[in-house]
Amino acid sequence: MNQAYRNLKKAIERASFLNDALGKACLEAPQTARLIGELHRRIEITDSLMVSCAVAAACTECAKDTGSCCFREMGESYGVIELFANRLLGAELPQNYDFPGSCYFVGERGCRLKFRHSFCLNYFCPDLLERLGEKTVLAIQRQVGEQLLAGWQLEQALAKHVNSGSIQGHL
Ligand code: SF4
Repeated sequence: MNQAYRNLKKAIERASFLNDALGKACLEAPQTARLIGELHRRIEITDSLMVSCAVAAACTECAKDTGSCCFREMGESYGVIELFANRLLGAELPQNYDFPGSCYFVGERGCRLKFRHSFCLNYFCPDLLERLGEKTVLAIQRQVGEQLLAGWQLEQALAKHVNSGSIQGHL
């Protein structure tokens, strides 16, 4: 078990702690509730675009044949606030790897996270880039940009919320 893995497990624990302590308040407070709703909406639009452009199917097919391109270091780069945002969005954080050697968050049915980093949303392998064509890739990237902006706004609001409360000392 390396240090990066230990840090990730700690971040998951702290995100759960935040979710227990502040989750209900964040879901009810007008500002964070609005930002969570907006990010949900953006995620749904991106996900349906990925399905309609056959990105989701191509990634699933490839993952079965050759393994996923979701690498271990990517999962280990997620921090407490991002994981807390995932809990607020209803994502269940796994207790263990499903595929040791790959990203901690990749499961049988793909990524388990809802709030994802730019790399996770913007990366297209060369094969996929060729299949999709420039116009489709640009349309997906435009939508992904909207989702990332909504995610960033929520992350800022949550960080402020956490840092302004007495909870800070427990993190
Ligand atoms: S998309 Fe999900 S499973 Fe893939 S690297 Fe990103 S967090 Fe991990």
